[in-house]
Amino acid sequence: MADRQASHQESPSTPSTIAAPAAGPAPLAAAGAMPRRRSTPTGPTRPVTPRGTTRPAAKPTLAEVIAEQERIFIRRQPESSRLAASAREALAGGVTSSWQISRPQPVWLSHGSGSKLYDVDGNEYVDLHGGYGVSLAGHAHPAIVDAVQRQVARGTHFAQPTRDALAVARELARRFGLPQWRFANSGTEATMDAVHLMRSITGRDLVIKVEGCYHGHHDSVQVSVYPEPDEMGPADRPASVPSSTGIPRALTDLTLVVGFNDLAAVDRVLSEHPGQVAGMILEPIMMNAGIIVPDPGYLSGLKDLLHSHGALLAFDEVKTGLTAGPSGATGVTGVTPDIICLAKAIGGGLSVAAIGGTWSVMRHVAEGGYEMVGTFNGNPLAMAAARAMLCEVATAQAYQRIEALAQRATDGVTRAIARHGLAAHVVSVGAKGCIVFSREPVRDFRSFLAINDAYSHAHWLFQHNGGVFLPPWGKSEQWLISVQHDADDIDRFNRNVMTFASSLS
Ligand code: PLP
Repeated sequence: MADRQASHQESPSTPSTIAAPAAGPAPLAAAGAMPRRRSTPTGPTRPVTPRGTTRPAAKPTLAEVIAEQERIFIRRQPESSRLAASAREALAGGVTSSWQISRPQPVWLSHGSGSKLYDVDGNEYVDLHGGYGVSLAGHAHPAIVDAVQRQVARGTHFAQPTRDALAVARELARRFGLPQWRFANSGTEATMDAVHLMRSITGRDLVIKVEGCYHGHHDSVQVSVYPEPDEMGPADRPASVPSSTGIPRALTDLTLVVGFNDLAAVDRVLSEHPGQVAGMILEPIMMNAGIIVPDPGYLSGLKDLLHSHGALLAFDEVKTGLTAGPSGATGVTGVTPDIICLAKAIGGGLSVAAIGGTWSVMRHVAEGGYEMVGTFNGNPLAMAAARAMLCEVATAQAYQRIEALAQRATDGVTRAIARHGLAAHVVSVGAKGCIVFSREPVRDFRSFLAINDAYSHAHWLFQHNGGVFLPPWGKSEQWLISVQHDADDIDRFNRNVMTFASSLS
């Protein structure tokens, strides 16, 4: 069983590998940057040769490389094309969630096994997509299959507590250092409960949120998730920009926005709204803008500042949860907040979320000050899977294996960057990692926004056509290494990185 990480450093101690890229022939321009999940990537176009001049055959431009890879992509997946077209009849937009619409077309899957996924055309992929950060167990892990099969035969829903729920709560308390837990079904529900709790406990309406953090699709946090440059306001005083239609302005105005790693901004917001801020929610390691790690002292500084104003701190560990390490970013950074939200990987592939709190926070729930409810909360099937995930799958040995594979991946990426002179670096935290197509480390959403997403899209296509499934949303997302991946899987990924890098140099 995995132990809580003992590191008491604020910044991830070893896991962040940032390879400084050498200057090289593939500069990454800010022009053509792709707003997340809104438009499609573009690349620089080939310079026009003046009439009457000749020059040696030019390397294809990034846009041409992407076009060629998209042609290969579509050629490999005729059945996905057919299903995508016919699905539009009965599924809105032809998918089950809007973020399944990848370019050039959604990929329809047949099944998963171990570290692999198989599409409906019979193509095999090493799965580093991980279902947007869920599949830390890989697919059909024997411990999960066994737990689910046993529980299916004993009933799948009671809306009453079971022994498994208690075991899961105890294990989360041991790992994350917060004594009391409740359950829900999605990350959105967990962060919604966290925001409600902070407001309910303090009797205040305002919450602070970080620009570029995603916390799910409820109203209070659908603010400045991916604001456009012309609407986001000055860096030291970001605007509160609605991130979806259908959200009343009156609600958006209750969410105050600050930059990541900007303690001074939080200090200012708290001073400008004395006695009005309920708390702050953030991803302690940002994972919806590539991976952005906290500066030393940032998270503990937030906790002190907020507490000095009678406000609470909530970590959204929906993504980092079990993937940053056995006790998430909380364990990696050594800062324990008042509230932790978990989801994604903790269910071993089933829908489970958890909300943990300090004694004083959860007393408010226990005594009825806030009714934390849900028909499916603590569902026995989900709890059986979560117990197996925590006690049999996400073990200390599993994290050791993952660490070695993560090192193998970052070494491979670093080699490709150096050999082909890419202006890029690699960031890796636990089982998650990504290539950042910029020379400089990224500290906040605005520097992330300046990165040209066309490079990430091209990389995604090369990986896909080379049999590795990464999350499709380019620079926003990361790879996830599961407990079932092996060195061969990582070597396939590394070969694709090298092919991709050589196509640009
Ligand atoms: N919080 C974070 C950090 C997330 O990345 C996500 C989803 O990607 C959520 C919350 C919302 O989780 P869900 O999609 O399960 O509602």
